[in-house]
Amino acid sequence: MSNPFQHWYDSCNSGDSAAKLAALPPFPTHIDVELTSVCNFRCLMCPTGNLSLQRDGEFMEWDTFDQIIDQCEPHGAGIRFIGWGEPMMHPQLFRFIRRASDALLPTHLNTNGSKLHQYEQNMILNMGLDSIKVSMQGTTAESYRDMRNIDYYEGVFTAVRTLHRRRGNAPRPWIHVSTTITDEHPSTVEVFKKRFAPYCDQISVGYTTFDYLDLAAVRLGDQDRERLEKMVANQEVEKRHPSCPEVYDKLTIHADGSARVCCNDYNGETFLGNVNDTPIGAMFHHPVIKEYREKLAREEHDYLHLCADCYDYMELTND
Ligand code: SF4
Ligand code: SF4
Repeated sequence: MSNPFQHWYDSCNSGDSAAKLAALPPFPTHIDVELTSVCNFRCLMCPTGNLSLQRDGEFMEWDTFDQIIDQCEPHGAGIRFIGWGEPMMHPQLFRFIRRASDALLPTHLNTNGSKLHQYEQNMILNMGLDSIKVSMQGTTAESYRDMRNIDYYEGVFTAVRTLHRRRGNAPRPWIHVSTTITDEHPSTVEVFKKRFAPYCDQISVGYTTFDYLDLAAVRLGDQDRERLEKMVANQEVEKRHPSCPEVYDKLTIHADGSARVCCNDYNGETFLGNVNDTPIGAMFHHPVIKEYREKLAREEHDYLHLCADCYDYMELTND
């Protein structure tokens, strides 16, 4: 079994931005579809969780999604259910996945795992989903609770283990568990990996990022705010701007159908059009994203509002 999106990830992450600009595809190879900007968690480091998101909480309409699939079908573009909310909160999630799957488009779901137990897991296994990533936080129940503001580490572990067992040797979905760390001791990373490794196909560990947060807009209680500010102040990681993999292959579409330059634009400051009235191909070649591509190809991150605070964190490798 292999990750059905791996060839796109390899292609996204290979070559520098200038080479990618020169070989721009006519249509995005995959689309990040935000089914909702609402979440049941209150994670400290996330604009949705800490209530600093400047957009309304909403759920994607069926007609909007239908538009996306109609346009992606002739191109075989992959559909990733990713955004600034928990996609499993969308009441029509399974219908949406089935629609993409029936159009023979590869599908991927990012989830915090909290809703996995609510569904008949055979439904998840049978609806045509090709890949699922369950996002954890920290490496232990304590660090998970600190950052996610909820005591649910063991609940997610049990849900992942059950999903993996039920899937057995079936060809899909590919199961990926990811986490990010802040100040956890490196030895706990190994413990985390050992615990989850028997129940997934892939594990990745990265650093928690705070750079893009608007701390002034965060709406948390005093204690949580204090904890967040302390974490931001204490973070010691070597940073460098990424050779951006986001704008050359992929398009991000928010729950209201608006296309954005990249997934980091959580407040929707860029606007490439709305899928309800503008073709995806036209949005993918909009002058705004073109400007990003050209500047990023020249490594001019600091001239772009979204990119000035966008970093790769060094020293940690992902498996
Ligand atoms: S679970 Fe994900 S979307 Fe929800 S608050 Fe946490 S990081 Fe944000
Ligand atoms: S913020 Fe800029 S550099 Fe970072 S991923 Fe988005 S487009 Fe690329």
